[in-house]
Amino acid sequence: MTEWEYAKQIIETIERHGGEAYIVGGAVRDYVLGSLPDDIDLATSLFPEDVMALFPKSVPTGIEHGTVTVIIDHHPFEVTTFRSEGAYSDSRRPDHVALGVSLEEDLLRRDFTMNAMAFHDGQVVDLFGGQHDLEERIIRTVGSPFERFGEDALRIMRALRFMSQLDFTLHEELRDAASVLGHKLEQIAMERIAIEFEKLLVGPAYKRALNEMVALGIHRHLPGVTTDLMNRVQEDERTPVNAASGWALFLYHSNDESWLLPWKRSNAIKREARTLAKLCETGLDEMTIYQTEETTLSTYFRMNGERDRSRELKQSLPIQSRKELQFDGRDALELGAKGEVIKHMLADLERRVVLQEMPNHETVLKEEAKRWLQRAGVS
Ligand code: ATP
Ligand code: MG
Repeated sequence: MTEWEYAKQIIETIERHGGEAYIVGGAVRDYVLGSLPDDIDLATSLFPEDVMALFPKSVPTGIEHGTVTVIIDHHPFEVTTFRSEGAYSDSRRPDHVALGVSLEEDLLRRDFTMNAMAFHDGQVVDLFGGQHDLEERIIRTVGSPFERFGEDALRIMRALRFMSQLDFTLHEELRDAASVLGHKLEQIAMERIAIEFEKLLVGPAYKRALNEMVALGIHRHLPGVTTDLMNRVQEDERTPVNAASGWALFLYHSNDESWLLPWKRSNAIKREARTLAKLCETGLDEMTIYQTEETTLSTYFRMNGERDRSRELKQSLPIQSRKELQFDGRDALELGAKGEVIKHMLADLERRVVLQEMPNHETVLKEEAKRWLQRAGVS
């Protein structure tokens, strides 16, 4: 069964029990654009406890917003009670959300016309001209962009990331509002901005979106993002192929090792971005191939638009890790080496084996180790 068919099953079950349910949000947008989405969200007139009673496998994943995750055959679907949002006094979060409203009100709170459609029984419910805007390839807010960005400034970043993902154009009034209200992004949690920015960077039209960001002055409200940095990233011939490679380009062109810190990314992403930025600087040699994980090397080739040679380059090395070296700490101790000396000697032997300056043979390495210790004045 496709995800779409599972979603239909959920809708039918809800309807048999007197509720209404629709596919909503990004899934409807993607469907109208001609693709079958695999991440499908549903909205329903039923309250969360009623949804949970209907589906034996359901988890209250966001109960304060009315969201229950229903699991069918191991496939999860977010089912959210129709809701409207109260006033936003802080440009970030609504003061309260109200459950138990109509579909129309639920659609009214959504950000863009293309994201504010619903689907049910083969029909698209399109109250704000979402299909028209998709045809025109225009991103437009539901209602006044000044009001909608005033409520939640993250929507400015979302508009730019959809622009990049879909290669769409921002509606003129939306551009004006983004430019006037961009400063409100400074009140939004960095993690939320970073997630949208990552999606922007890996979108096919990321250069257009970065360009638009500068034109509207939005970049000035993001940490460490100067106009010069934006230009350099756009002029770089490498392309972000995932979040880490996107951050790597900024890191590389910023010439500032700590540039990524205020963006609050995970340690794993930071590490990979640093490694990639370094590779952009140095290029590949045997030692960097040896020291870099295969998946990171693969990303490096892809961001350079080259054939992915990560596997073959890794395999062409004499050893894959220190463990394969035919000489270890214990052998070094037997030759009378100690502490720091062992560390330096192993690193040196390892490097010379990787560079094929000598073979990875026990006896050869032992002789070489003796000579090394003599030179170091240890024995
Ligand atoms: P993606 O395919 O990238 O997940 P999406 O449209 O599903 O895109 P989500 O962030 O998953 O985006 O949000 C789901 C839906 O919730 C959106 O389509 C939109 O209707 C609504 N939405 C999300 N964030 C906001 C927001 N900040 N303000 C208003 N509506 C929002
Ligand atoms: Mg989504």
